[in-house]
Amino acid sequence: MSFIVAIDGPSGTGKGTVTSALAEKFNLLYLDTGAMYRCVTLYFLENNVDTQNNEAVKKALKEIKIDFKKEKDINKVFLNGKDVTKEIRMPNVNEHVSSVSHISEVRYEMAELQRKVGSMQDSILEGRDIGTNVFPNADVKIYLDASVDVRVQRRVKQNKEKGIEMTEEQVRKSIMERDESDRNAKIAPLKQAEDAIYIDTSNLTIKGEIAKLAKIIKKQKKYYNRIENGYIMTKETGYKKFRRAFLKHFWSFLYHIAFRVKVTGKENVKLGEGQIICANHLNYLDAAGIVLTNKETIRFVAKNDLYKNPILASWGHVFNIIPIKRDSSDMASIKLCLKGLKNKDKIGIFPEGTRHGLDKHVELKNGACFLAYKAKVKIVPVGIKGSFKPFSKVTFNYGKPIDVASFKLDNPDWINDATKYVMKQIVELSK
Ligand code: C5P
Repeated sequence: MSFIVAIDGPSGTGKGTVTSALAEKFNLLYLDTGAMYRCVTLYFLENNVDTQNNEAVKKALKEIKIDFKKEKDINKVFLNGKDVTKEIRMPNVNEHVSSVSHISEVRYEMAELQRKVGSMQDSILEGRDIGTNVFPNADVKIYLDASVDVRVQRRVKQNKEKGIEMTEEQVRKSIMERDESDRNAKIAPLKQAEDAIYIDTSNLTIKGEIAKLAKIIKKQKKYYNRIENGYIMTKETGYKKFRRAFLKHFWSFLYHIAFRVKVTGKENVKLGEGQIICANHLNYLDAAGIVLTNKETIRFVAKNDLYKNPILASWGHVFNIIPIKRDSSDMASIKLCLKGLKNKDKIGIFPEGTRHGLDKHVELKNGACFLAYKAKVKIVPVGIKGSFKPFSKVTFNYGKPIDVASFKLDNPDWINDATKYVMKQIVELSK
């Protein structure tokens, strides 16, 4: 997966200038999605495309080819081979771009194109719906805003530099109309994504804006690199082993004070053998319990967000936790698991995927069975019982190792059957 930075916000917030500078600084592909909608609008206007006619819109979209090229430090936009950098900023395009961008066929086609381009290389995209619609899982999401007055002044200055003639009143009217239309769009309206960082740029210079955003991107890039490049697979230094042993003793001591821990069937966890430990997921502390009550390190697979928090990241590093991206079949994680199993590591996976997944009727994750089959290792089911209330009893029951290969024989749906079987054993053990 590529590293994606999503910059959203209304016009005149400095998005274009800042995003282009950041692309350069971090060596990211720069995609001005507004320019794409402007190109479509220009094409529709020049070719009198009837925007009420779905078929005509679809046909026109097929005829449009948009290219971006940087020439002498200027980002140029080409529509079917013609340089339209200036034309797409003209008042007639301004006037119609918002309504054109809200046509569902246009929106769908452009968003798909943006996803395609962005997923091929590390990219920074600026627009209105990047963090909410195009890349809801972007690594960095920023929402830029500024007062209308500031935005108008900026746009007036920019127009002068670009030789675009528009009075201040025209600019104000155009910005306010587009704001209104973009915010109230039926599909993918302009709004801040819940997890986006809000920045008011009214009192920031462009230089200040770039510095502020660069700091955020740099931090996220660091975590991303840790995850992507197997930060967790860094060498087993003596210091790392010492930290792990120390933390394990320390947390184990506290864990045994906090809960009355009971473990049965530990003989099923074979020392020096690659195995997958699959348990039911009741609480954030259940994985910790498995790690702390086992001699060998059980390397749990956990959401990669863990590595975004410096303290959790350092523990994740020490305990070789394998990060997995949300909502995706993450090849990097699968490879790390397979490599670990080959090295006779023990990998911990919750087939429910989330806490109380069975109760929530979440579809079981069959990654554990896939890995077990691929790495030719067995799955040890663990049933966990307990409320995890202070001083309550918490039980970890380890069951007999399961060989999933026996499910494979001529059974096209073997993986789901095997997963269901593993979960059934876990449920039995947690009664
Ligand atoms: O960013 P710019 O002002 O060039 O965008 C022009 C118009 O394109 C916006 O006012 C908005 O209507 C539309 N747009 C959009 N979604 C994006 C980018 C732009 O709807 N991601």
